[in-house]
Amino acid sequence: ETYSTQILKDEAATIHAAGVLARQLQPGQVIYLHGDLGAGKTTLVRGILHALGHTGKVKSPTYTIVEPYNLAVGSCYHFDLYRFQDPEEWEAAGFRDYFNATSICLVEWPEKAGHLLPDADIEIQFDILPHGRILHITSRQALSLEGLCQ
Ligand code: ADP
Ligand code: MG
Repeated sequence: ETYSTQILKDEAATIHAAGVLARQLQPGQVIYLHGDLGAGKTTLVRGILHALGHTGKVKSPTYTIVEPYNLAVGSCYHFDLYRFQDPEEWEAAGFRDYFNATSICLVEWPEKAGHLLPDADIEIQFDILPHGRILHITSRQALSLEGLCQ
C-alpha cells in the first residue's frame, strides 16, 4: 500500500507528476480521480496519456462519457462520469467491457457511477489551493513516488 500527499505548485507540476505515475501503470488497472471541477483531473490524465506515448489531443469526455486511446501498453479509457445518470446506460453502452485485464481505465467523477464501477487500484484526490493543488494518492500496490514533487 501507498499513501502520499504532495503539493503541486502549478500545471507543469501536475504534468510532471503524471509522468511519474504513468511509468507505474499496468494493464488491468483502474484509477479513480476525485476533485471539484477545475481541480486538475483532466490535466493529470493528459499528462499520463502523453507520457504513455499518445501524441494527439486529449479532450475532456464530458459529453461522450468515455474517450478511448490505443497505446503501446494497451488500451486506455478516459472516463468523465460527471453527467452520468442512468445505471442502465452502463450496461447498454458496454462500459463494463472497458474494464478488463488488458486496459487501463482512468475515471473522473467515479462517485457518479456508484457501485457499478469496479474498485480502484489507485485513487487520486485533488484539493484546490489558491495557487496550486494538493494531491492525495492511495494505492493498493507500492508506488515509487520519488521525484513526483519537483
Ligand atoms: P478537472 O478535470 O478536474 O475539471 P482540468 O484539468 O480540466 O480540471 O482543469 C484544471 C485547471 O487547473 C487547468 O486550468 C489547469 O491549467 C490548472 N491546473 C492544473 N494543475 C494545477 C496546479 N498544480 N496548480 C494550479 N493550477 C493547475
Ligand atoms: Mg475533467
